[in-house]
Amino acid sequence: MLRVGFIGWRGMVGSVLMERMREENDFNGFEPVFFTTSNIGGKGPETGMDIPSLKDAYNMELLFDFDIIVTCQGSDHTKSVYPELQNMGWNGFWIDSSSALRMDDESIIVLDPVNRSVIDEGLRSGIKTFVGGNCTVSLMLMALNGLFKNKCIEWLSSMTYQAASGAGANNMKELVAQMIAISDVTREKMNDLASTAIEIDALVTGQLQSLAFPVSQFGAPLAASLIPWIDRLMDSGQTREEWKGYAETNKILNLEKPVPVDGLCVRIGAMRSHSQAFTIKLTRDIPLNELTDMIQGGNEWVRIVPNEREATLKELTPAAVNGTLQVPVGRLRKLMMGPEYLTAFSVGDQLLWGAAEPLRRVLNIIIEYLS
Ligand code: NAP
Repeated sequence: MLRVGFIGWRGMVGSVLMERMREENDFNGFEPVFFTTSNIGGKGPETGMDIPSLKDAYNMELLFDFDIIVTCQGSDHTKSVYPELQNMGWNGFWIDSSSALRMDDESIIVLDPVNRSVIDEGLRSGIKTFVGGNCTVSLMLMALNGLFKNKCIEWLSSMTYQAASGAGANNMKELVAQMIAISDVTREKMNDLASTAIEIDALVTGQLQSLAFPVSQFGAPLAASLIPWIDRLMDSGQTREEWKGYAETNKILNLEKPVPVDGLCVRIGAMRSHSQAFTIKLTRDIPLNELTDMIQGGNEWVRIVPNEREATLKELTPAAVNGTLQVPVGRLRKLMMGPEYLTAFSVGDQLLWGAAEPLRRVLNIIIEYLS
């Protein structure tokens, strides 16, 4: 029986992966073993079967015995363990949520509703390293796959509105701590029917600018504000998050002629769903109804939201999408720049399609390939 090792299963991405695997009854047909960097001998997650106690995620001899290793532990662990396993002559499959191996020539970025043929071709040619993509890039490709498939995109600009969860668990908690701090300082005035919005705003602004406001994770207020910077500066003047748009999109799609992708990435006070506003330069003038059909045909999770207020408020917000696999695409219209310019807005749960779901699915693809 195939032996599958799971590392990093209790972190944010790992626990969403476990949840999805339980929901889909995936703990079947292989022997799962769970690893830890902090609690050797402890109890693993609920899988519906008896599992051994937690093993040491740095024990190379143990790891060497696995046919497949799935890790959501993070780049530092991958950088420490993966090269050593390769040097030892390990021949197993490595599935990783971190960015450590994403741009390696010997790895494939996985998003099977978009690049199943690239994954299958990789398996046939002996590739054994499969890495989840950047959350924003994966969600953009899930939304616009129909246009890429039909070769309609000359270039693409994505302006993002990214949730706190993309920065990690502590950042999600800090966002809520910021909301609590704002709520604490305004409670009395909010309960006073005679208070004015200007009075309340003064209290909120005072709190946002106070030295006591909790910003140790984000470095700036996010609640009642936003942060137009994600990750570190690149030589190009882009942030690394913005740089990934072009680099990862073209690697995932394995395009002969790269499609330029660029834009600004902005952190906003949403919890776990990212949103993106697209400006798309089409390769030719295509009627809006044909473009809409193409986008709808991109995959089974895309849902077109009519360009109407009621539908947009009901279906095209992080609050509506959190916890679901749906990828709504709306606000579709041609821009006044000309008939070859399309705009659209999309939302997606970044812990599902942006992180755990592509890993869950590629694990199943590899198990099927090996059996
Ligand atoms: P995370 O929540 O920080 O978890 C990573 C590991 O930290 C856990 O597996 C756990 O390892 C340890 N840990 C320490 N304290 C913990 C606590 N209180 N609760 C849970 N785990 C704790 O990291 P993550 O956000 O899942 O990200 C993992 C990797 O995926 C990173 O490389 C990240 O860049 C990448 N990624 C993240 C996202 C995202 O949305 N967050 C999206 C795509 C890719 P032990 O059990 O061994 O102690």
